[in-house]
Amino acid sequence: MLLLTVIYDENVKDLCEDIGEIKSIFEIKNIKLGISENIENKNHFVKIFCNDQSLNDKIDDIKASFNLYFAKVIYNLAIKEFCEGKVDEFLNDRYFFLKEKDVVLIKFFLEEFLIYDNLEMSSEIAFCINKKNSIIKKILKCIEENEEININGFLRFRTKEFQNELGEIADKIIEKYIRDKEYMEFIKLLRFFVETQEICYDELNLIIDNKNNYKLKNKNGDDVIGDLLKDIEGSNYSGVVNMEDIIISGLITHVPKRIVIHCAENCYNKEFIDTIKDVFLERAHFCDGCSFCKEYIKDSKEVLKYNTSVDKQNHFLN
Ligand SMILES: [Zn+2]
Repeated sequence: MLLLTVIYDENVKDLCEDIGEIKSIFEIKNIKLGISENIENKNHFVKIFCNDQSLNDKIDDIKASFNLYFAKVIYNLAIKEFCEGKVDEFLNDRYFFLKEKDVVLIKFFLEEFLIYDNLEMSSEIAFCINKKNSIIKKILKCIEENEEININGFLRFRTKEFQNELGEIADKIIEKYIRDKEYMEFIKLLRFFVETQEICYDELNLIIDNKNNYKLKNKNGDDVIGDLLKDIEGSNYSGVVNMEDIIISGLITHVPKRIVIHCAENCYNKEFIDTIKDVFLERAHFCDGCSFCKEYIKDSKEVLKYNTSVDKQNHFLN
């Protein structure tokens, strides 16, 4: 049974390798696909079929699965075309105020995401992944509606349908880029501030317990968070201040020679830990096995014990 006919000319890259790769994936699943190719007037006509009679009852699934793989091949072609050409037009139109070196970096990050799936997860990237899936769905729908697909025609006319999604992806990547850049500028400022301050403590220990409570102790184990709070209360700080902000501002105004973060994995706020790491660089150390840590590991076991006993009590009540 014929799964799909693919037509393209020499303006499109040779798709034999891509189709061959899909064929190999099916072979791993013991499904043999046949491929026939004719070239007439520089036009490639590639037919992909599955003639295995024993698979007749599974043919709809095979066709659906092949279409999805092939949608990704077309996605890659369309994305390459966007990244190599239209993206400049898009950036010139909407982001004309960006500096040349920012544009180069943004294009790099955009390609890393769109072509190589290679960007650290964040809320913006989660949004982009959804948009990317929506593009692939649109391509898939187009393949499913047609027995044959003309790649040149598709790239010329149908790609307009997902220009909006590509624009929204680019917007988000730029938003993330600007946010990261601002964050780095802020960190540089804090680093400068820390470097010019006098050392206040030889060592500070930030301990995060299993309920995400913070403790800040000097090297003798004395609690110092009260000292930091006192300073903040005495300042013009207004509004709701969270503990992370108090600790960060405390650390940069009472600079330690060494800051040790204990049980960092207990922290719900990864950005908080990253900020300390980024500001204090080689002064920041991590620990998960000293007497401070053990105290909290012991605590977490007790909490576990407590929870289990509460569970048991509830069972009895039931
Ligand atoms: Zn420790």
